[in-house]
Amino acid sequence: MHHCENKRSRASITRQWIWVTAAILAVASQVPAAAQPGFEDYYFDSPLRHYQGDVRTLYFNDPKGFRATYLPKTRIPLNTEDYFGIWNYLNHKDSWPRSGDPLIPYDNHSRKKTYVTDQGNPHDAVDWLVSFRNWGQNEVINPFPRGAVVEVTSVNDVNPDIPDNWSAGNSLDLVCYLDGDATNQSSFNKYQVSFWHLKQHSVLVQPGDFVQFGQVLAQVGNSGLTGLEVTHIHTRYIHYGTRLDPFKGRWNKNIQESLLFDQAWVEHKTNYHTTENRKHLTLNDAFSVEMPNRSWNTYVFKAFSEIEAIRVGDGQGGIEPGYDVLANPNLRDLNRKTSNFIDNDGKRHTLYEVSFRWYQDAHPSVIDKDIEFLIETPDGERSNRVFVVVRD
Ligand SMILES: [Zn+2]
Repeated sequence: MHHCENKRSRASITRQWIWVTAAILAVASQVPAAAQPGFEDYYFDSPLRHYQGDVRTLYFNDPKGFRATYLPKTRIPLNTEDYFGIWNYLNHKDSWPRSGDPLIPYDNHSRKKTYVTDQGNPHDAVDWLVSFRNWGQNEVINPFPRGAVVEVTSVNDVNPDIPDNWSAGNSLDLVCYLDGDATNQSSFNKYQVSFWHLKQHSVLVQPGDFVQFGQVLAQVGNSGLTGLEVTHIHTRYIHYGTRLDPFKGRWNKNIQESLLFDQAWVEHKTNYHTTENRKHLTLNDAFSVEMPNRSWNTYVFKAFSEIEAIRVGDGQGGIEPGYDVLANPNLRDLNRKTSNFIDNDGKRHTLYEVSFRWYQDAHPSVIDKDIEFLIETPDGERSNRVFVVVRD
């Protein structure tokens, strides 16, 4: 099911509330609309330029060490105000890969899945999510730091913004030359980042262009294999034929150091993990949770800032947009608490939690529809997108 802008009806508004069994989890960002701290000051000095020996030998002696030393760190490839989280659709349903599969890389502490390795149906990419509300204004930017020599090597810009089941859709490949020399076409010298599912006619660069720090490249679209419930760009990180998971984690066999400029910062803007009600819910999995009607449902919302309100999205399914769930007088066991969350770098964050129970008896007009939840914090309305579908 797709939540395209044109599918989001504002039809019959009713105060009938539907809610759901199982816990829902969402995380709001701590710093809305801010650039990634520190990235502006990070300069990539192309250390490979200074290496005098044989690069092939250097690489094969220690591929992970090579990547840790010679690849530049990248930032989220989106303007931060557009960014909503990461998602990997192969984790979306529990059917494949199975929860607990030891081959699935999780990160160290929260055990969320960011990426899936080849198990006959490789994803091998990170899906960076954007808001639907800014359709056509979600900018893909050059994720490489200052100093990085980055060339556009491939562009496709002609596919309509209609999902299909087989293609990358509109796409864009960037190559960063690790030694800063674009004439050195050695495979060891090229670190490629590819973007899929771009918006038709939005690509602003062409093959052969060298792109600047922070340069806007295209818009996020809905072309190609995006049979998903969120708007995203599928992003592959490739060096010497190896698709890399940029997230450092215990099960990540490709790298020994995060390829992201500040993974902890990315994670704290991203998601969180729970196993409430036996459901293996990451925030990702919760994008479209199915819940039975007419039952007591438990909700747990978490954020890295205090939760001031939990608002319903823009009217999908006949729910009144903007209504604050926490203002509903029929909630039971409304409880607030805080806890600590330790990220991969050992940094401690305060996690704010609101939980409540609610008996749901959904109006027929909203059965089988997606309902969107948004956490509102003192920083403004920010959250990853959580959808609930009530089944009668
Ligand atoms: Zn993807």
